[in-house]
Amino acid sequence: MNKQVPKIGLVSLGCPKALVDSEQILTRLRAEGYIISPSYEGADLVVVNTCGFIDAAVAESLDAIGEALKENGKVIVTGCLGAKSDVVLAAHPQVLAVTGPHAAAEVMAAVHQYLPQPHDPFESLVPPQGVKLTPKHYAYLKISEGCNHRCTFCIIPSLRGDLVSRPVGEVMQEAENLVKAGVKELLVISQDTSAYGVDVKYRSGFWGGKPIRTRMTELARALGDLGVWVRMHYVYPYPHVDEVIPLMAEGRILPYLDVPFQHASPRILKAMKRPGDIEGTLARVRAWREVCPEITIRSTFIAGFPGETEADFELLLDFLREAELDRVGCFAYSPVEGAAANALSGAVPEEVKEERVARLMALQEEISTEKLARMVGQTLTVLVDEVDEDGAIARSAADAPEIDGLVYLDEGEGLKPGDFVEVEIHDADAHDLWASRQ
Ligand code: SF4
Repeated sequence: MNKQVPKIGLVSLGCPKALVDSEQILTRLRAEGYIISPSYEGADLVVVNTCGFIDAAVAESLDAIGEALKENGKVIVTGCLGAKSDVVLAAHPQVLAVTGPHAAAEVMAAVHQYLPQPHDPFESLVPPQGVKLTPKHYAYLKISEGCNHRCTFCIIPSLRGDLVSRPVGEVMQEAENLVKAGVKELLVISQDTSAYGVDVKYRSGFWGGKPIRTRMTELARALGDLGVWVRMHYVYPYPHVDEVIPLMAEGRILPYLDVPFQHASPRILKAMKRPGDIEGTLARVRAWREVCPEITIRSTFIAGFPGETEADFELLLDFLREAELDRVGCFAYSPVEGAAANALSGAVPEEVKEERVARLMALQEEISTEKLARMVGQTLTVLVDEVDEDGAIARSAADAPEIDGLVYLDEGEGLKPGDFVEVEIHDADAHDLWASRQ
C-alpha cells in the first residue's frame, strides 16, 4: 500500500442512522483518495462517530474517544454527542475538532485541515452505492433526518432538528445502486418514516422519468418494484400507515412493521407527548392483521417513565397480552441530559424499573414462544446471513438484522450470504427458529 496516501480510521457507535452517517463519511473519504485504516496504529487520524442518546451511550462514546486518543492521538469527533461539544471538550480537550450528527461536510473540512487531501483522488475506487458498513447483502436506506415530534424523553429533535426529507428521486437512485451492487434487503430508516415528505408537502420528484410523490406509501411501492426485500423501520402509528399494509399483503414489501409504541397507559403516553389513544392503536393492529395476517409487528417500550404507577404498568402488560406483538424490546427509563421528561416528578426507583422490564420481557417471552411454536412445520423463504461448517444462519421476513430472531439451518453446503432459500421449520424457542432446507 502507498505509504504517502493518508490513512484514516473510523470508529462508528450508535444506531443505524449514525451508521449511515459513518458510511457517508467513509464514502467521501474514499472519493477523495484517503485510505481507510482498520487499526489505530495504521491510521494518521481517527474519526469517532458518537452516540449521545442515553447516559450509557455518552459514557461509551467518551471512552471510545479516550481510547482513540491513547492509541492514535489525532482524533476528530462527530455524531450525536458531538452536538454537545462542551461535554466532549471537558472530558477530552485534546481532540482536534468536534461536529454534530449528519455533518459529513464539516467532518471533511476538519480532515482537510489536519490531514490534507491526497493530490490524485481515486474517484473510480468508489462504487456508485458508496462504502457500506453492513454486510454486502443488506443495507440501511436513510430517507430523512430530524423529527417534528417532541417526545419528552428524547433529545433527537434538539440534536438533529426538525424533519428534512431526502428527495425521493435521490433515495430511489441510492436504492437502485444498492440493488445493482448485490444488496438483497433494504432497511428503510429515519427518525419517523411515516412522516416522510411532510416537510416538503409531499411534493413530487422524479424517478425513472415518472413523477413520484415524496410520501411513505409511494416510496414503499416504488422500492417494492426493485425486486428485493424492503423492510420499514421507525414508523409512527399515524392513520395513513394503514395504506402500506395492502402492499405487504400483495408481497411488494415485507410484511413487517417496526412501530415504537413506547407505552400503553394514556396518562404516561400523554406525559411522553405520544399519541394516547391506545384503544385506537389496538383496533389498528387488529385491522392490519385482517388485511395482512402474516404481518410481523415489532415495537419498543419504556418501563419506569417518571410518574409510572403499578396501575400504568399493568395497562402496558394488558396491552401486550391483547396485541400479541411479535417482536418487543423494552428499556428501563433513563434520563437523558436536556430531555423535557427530566423535569417531571415521580421518578421511579431503579430497582422498580428493572423489575418492570424483567416482568414485561418475561410476558413477551411467553407470547413469543407460543407464536414461534405455531411456525413449526411451516415452509418459509429465508435470507442467508452466514455460512459455516455447522450450517447456516439466516433470517425470515419476520427478522430484521441485529434486533430480531434468527433461523438456524442445519446444513449450509452450497449456500452463501445473500442467498434466498426455502426451508421447513422443525424447532422453535422464544426468539429463534431451527430449519432444514426443502
Ligand atoms: S418520534 Fe419522538 S422518540 Fe422518535 S425521534 Fe422523534 S422525538 Fe425522538
